[in-house]
Amino acid sequence: MSTIRSDFPILNQQVHGKPLVYLDSAATSQKPQQVIEALARYYRQDNANVHRGIHALAERATAEYEQARLKVARFINAASSKEIVFVRNATEAINLVANAWGRANLRPGDEVLITQMEHHANIVPWQLVTQATGATLRYAPVTDAGELDYDALDSLLTGRTKVFAFTAMSNVLGTINPVAELTAKAHAVGAIAVVDGAQSVPHLPTDVQALDVDFLAISSHKMLGPTGVGALYGKRALLDAMPPFMGGGEMIREVFMDHSTWEDAPLKFEAGTPAIGEAIAFGAAVDYLDALGMDWVHQHEMEITHYAWQRLSAIEGLRIIGPGPERRGGLLAFTLADVHPHDVAAVLDMQGVAVRAGHHCAQPIHDRYGIPATTRASFYIYNTPEEVDVLAAALERARELFSF
Ligand code: PMP
Repeated sequence: MSTIRSDFPILNQQVHGKPLVYLDSAATSQKPQQVIEALARYYRQDNANVHRGIHALAERATAEYEQARLKVARFINAASSKEIVFVRNATEAINLVANAWGRANLRPGDEVLITQMEHHANIVPWQLVTQATGATLRYAPVTDAGELDYDALDSLLTGRTKVFAFTAMSNVLGTINPVAELTAKAHAVGAIAVVDGAQSVPHLPTDVQALDVDFLAISSHKMLGPTGVGALYGKRALLDAMPPFMGGGEMIREVFMDHSTWEDAPLKFEAGTPAIGEAIAFGAAVDYLDALGMDWVHQHEMEITHYAWQRLSAIEGLRIIGPGPERRGGLLAFTLADVHPHDVAAVLDMQGVAVRAGHHCAQPIHDRYGIPATTRASFYIYNTPEEVDVLAAALERARELFSF
């Protein structure tokens, strides 16, 4: 653990005179030295535009950019790196599918099914595309315990369903959804499965071929990589059949005055100059996680989460939302009596503890539980049980301050 922590220079600092305890990795993870260095090295040595140049730097930049694509493909066991489209973030990945696949395939009478536990990134693009195409948006409900309601889900999945889009792990409830099972349910009614992997890919081993998902949205900045880059995995046949989402340079084969022809996927979906250095550093983040092993990452987070669950549930007035620790990933969202989550987070910040407070870009699931907001502590590879102790002590301090 001390070797992991020493790879993250940012963790070694004081905030308000207290050692920083960073428990906000579900919002964005910290970056190891190896990732920071990969980004700096690219700008120091190799900076050039990709795919077009005929000089040494351009060839090097292109080779590294394509190598990063291969690393991401291997990390999720995609059949080919041609199935990986670099995008800006998980949000753009979902917007790409909603626009490119959705506009070409959705008609009035068709249905898009999402769940009540989605992040706004997996809600709003489907609202926009169903409004534009005349299709209908439906929601699979969530139980009081924070799981999908499977009986309701089975009755909502019908021959009208063309897309079932769901998160692999909720960023509020922490619920880990059974992706293979849900994908099979989608396929059984002839729908495609679009999976939001923003919270799962950084934390759990992912094998897209075994899961049989059609599309998977991935965010680099939540898995030790830089902001400004993410990936969309798509099955080759689906990507090939899809029209482009954005037009411009890089994605074309030939441009005439009245029409153009496209590159093959994935370049067909990468209009304009991509985030080259960021993609290369994303590759370095994948290398870092690969070296740790995703089984270790998951195991470590399970241990921290079990411990945090135990410590936090012993605090009077604290209510964790979502399933028990054995069925969730490494985050806990909670309320503390009727103290506003922003006040809780501000008190924790004064103790050096960084958590998130608010609706976490997931208003419908908060509405489901009749609460406007929660405080969320989220864990990653660099967090320790001692940091959970600091969190628990800081929450006790908040209880004293708000005197209940
Ligand atoms: N989906 C989920 C479940 C998330 O937690 C987030 C990030 N908060 C996103 C999507 C959006 O990811 P990005 O920041 O990469 O657009």
